[in-house]
Amino acid sequence: MNRRDFFVSSAVAGAATMLTGTAMAENLNKASEAKLRLACSWGFVPAKDDAERITRMKELGFEGIEAGGDGTGALGQKKMFDDAGFKVVALCFGSCGGRIVSEDVSKRQEGIDMLKKAIENANTLEAKVVVYVPAFNGQTKLNPLEVRKIVVDTMPALAEFAAQANTNIVFEPLNRGESWYIRQVADGAAIARDCNKDAIGIGTMGDFYHMAIEEVDDMGAFLSAGKFLKHVHLGNGPQEPRRTLPGQDDRPFAHGFRGLKYLGYNGFATFECGVAGTDRLAEIRKSIAYLRSEWDKAEV
Ligand code: MG
Repeated sequence: MNRRDFFVSSAVAGAATMLTGTAMAENLNKASEAKLRLACSWGFVPAKDDAERITRMKELGFEGIEAGGDGTGALGQKKMFDDAGFKVVALCFGSCGGRIVSEDVSKRQEGIDMLKKAIENANTLEAKVVVYVPAFNGQTKLNPLEVRKIVVDTMPALAEFAAQANTNIVFEPLNRGESWYIRQVADGAAIARDCNKDAIGIGTMGDFYHMAIEEVDDMGAFLSAGKFLKHVHLGNGPQEPRRTLPGQDDRPFAHGFRGLKYLGYNGFATFECGVAGTDRLAEIRKSIAYLRSEWDKAEV
C-alpha cells in the first residue's frame, strides 16, 4: 500500500467508524432526504435566446440559477426566472478584492458594506447562499492566522445579518493555487463553527474541482462539514484539460455523493466548469446522465 492509498483507506475507515450504531441509523434516515438538485449559471446551457434556454434547462432537469457578483445583475432577471420556475439558488459573490481581511484597516468597512449589499440582494432574490472567499492569493499581506482572526471577529455579526435576510454566508474552500486561507471543506466548516456554532446564517461548501486537489477523500470531506455544508460546485479535476464537465475525465463522483447522502444533503449542486468538445449541449446532457448514475451508485 502506498502512502496515498494508506491515507485514503484511513479516511474511509475513519468515516465508517464515525457512522456506527445510533449515528449510523440517524444518518441512514437522513439519506432519504438527500437529493441531487442541479443548478448552473445563466448562459451555461447554449441557446439562441432566453426562451430556448429556459426550455432546454427544464428539459435537462435544472432547478436553479447561480448568479455572479453581488446579485445586482440578477435582480433584473428575477421575474423571468420566477415565470420559468427557476430559483436563484446562490450568489457567487467572491472576495470583494480581499477588502474585509485587508492589511489596510481602512478598506475593511467598504468590504463589509459590499457583502451586506450582496446579502440584501440575496434576500430579494430568495437565494439561500452567498458564496464568500476571504481573499485570493495576493489580495492581503496578512498570513492565514491573521486572516482567520479577522474572519471570526467580523463574521458573527454578518452571519446574524444574513440569517435575518434568510440567507447564508458560505465560505468556499479553494485550491492552494488560488487561495491559502481556506483550502479544505473541514477548515471552512471549522471557521464557520467559530463564527456561529449552530450554523445559523453561515456555512461552507465543497467544490469538486478544488476538492480533487486538496482533499484526500471526498466523502470524508463532506462528512466532516456536517450541518455546515450548504452548497456544492461541480467540475472535474486538475488534469488537462482541467475542470471540465463531470464525466469528461475519470474523476469519480459517487464516493463524494455518498457523503452528501449520509448528510441528507438537499441543497444545490452548481456546474462550475468548462466543456470539452464542440457540441456543448450534447456534452452537458451526457454529463447530467453521468452525475445521475453516480448518484444512484452512491450506496449508503
Ligand atoms: Mg467553485
